[in-house]
Amino acid sequence: MSMQYPEWIWHNGAIKHWAEATTHVMSHALHYGSSVFEGIRTYQTPNGPVIFRLTDHNTRLFASAKIYDMAMPYTVEQVNQACRDVIHANNNTTDYLRPVAYRGLGGFGLSADTPTDLAVATWKMGQYLGASVLEQGIDACVSSWQRFAPNTLPAGAKAGGNYLSGQLVAREARRLGFGEGIALASTGLLSEGAGENLFLVFEGALHTTPVSAALLNGITRNTIITLARDAGVEVVERDLPREYLYLCDELFMCGTAAEITPIRSVDGRQVGTGKPGPVTRRVQELFFGLFEGKTPDKRGWLEAL
Ligand code: PMP
Repeated sequence: MSMQYPEWIWHNGAIKHWAEATTHVMSHALHYGSSVFEGIRTYQTPNGPVIFRLTDHNTRLFASAKIYDMAMPYTVEQVNQACRDVIHANNNTTDYLRPVAYRGLGGFGLSADTPTDLAVATWKMGQYLGASVLEQGIDACVSSWQRFAPNTLPAGAKAGGNYLSGQLVAREARRLGFGEGIALASTGLLSEGAGENLFLVFEGALHTTPVSAALLNGITRNTIITLARDAGVEVVERDLPREYLYLCDELFMCGTAAEITPIRSVDGRQVGTGKPGPVTRRVQELFFGLFEGKTPDKRGWLEAL
């Protein structure tokens, strides 16, 4: 992903210039993966710019920190405000926020009570998996790498170290010429994409893999489940074997970065007609409708910027 660096970053309570928002090479997180983070999008709506589910994302940030027993020297509302401040500092030119809390400098060793540093960066993400994928879909493969077993690392934490798994899956997929990789859980059943949750359409219902399948409980996943149920679409959270990827009528990935990306083939097998199907399109309409003023925001998900 090429990236244009925005000028300002929020770091430990102050807005700093990009070049000054640095951390020491002896920071704990750099050695041990001890960071927790979020990815949050902003959208333009007819009523002005919004941050999508800001509070839910930062609540998950604190949940991830709790799982890893990492002290958070701020409140959720303070991190929300840091998110708003950094967007304003960059003149509302970005569409993606990245709060990251990490064990910094001071105390070394695995169990050290290293102080927690916090940064909030922002940049322009655009379409994460490439231009026009939302319409055309991507070709995916099942990775040779499995997700970690639930008694090894907690998949429910969005922690830096967990993303070693995602890197193996995503890099293998790209090297083989695929748009994204899908991982199986240690049970051999479907888990999720390298950085996205999975939905498939089978016998008219939407199916998604359960949180027990070593996945991150995505906020986009929750948004889709909620909007689909509101619209009368049946949604089932269930264990799914790999072959359902080949046999389903429709398949898509979702996440803050990926939004709702249709998958047109898996392991060289065409999914359904090879084009985004009616349920996928309906879910895209409901989701993007939130930002177009077409889907009512019943739950206060569109938060003021
Ligand atoms: N799974 C993984 C591993 C992810 O990194 C992400 C992106 N945060 C997701 C799922 C989707 O989560 P969300 O919808 O909250 O962005």
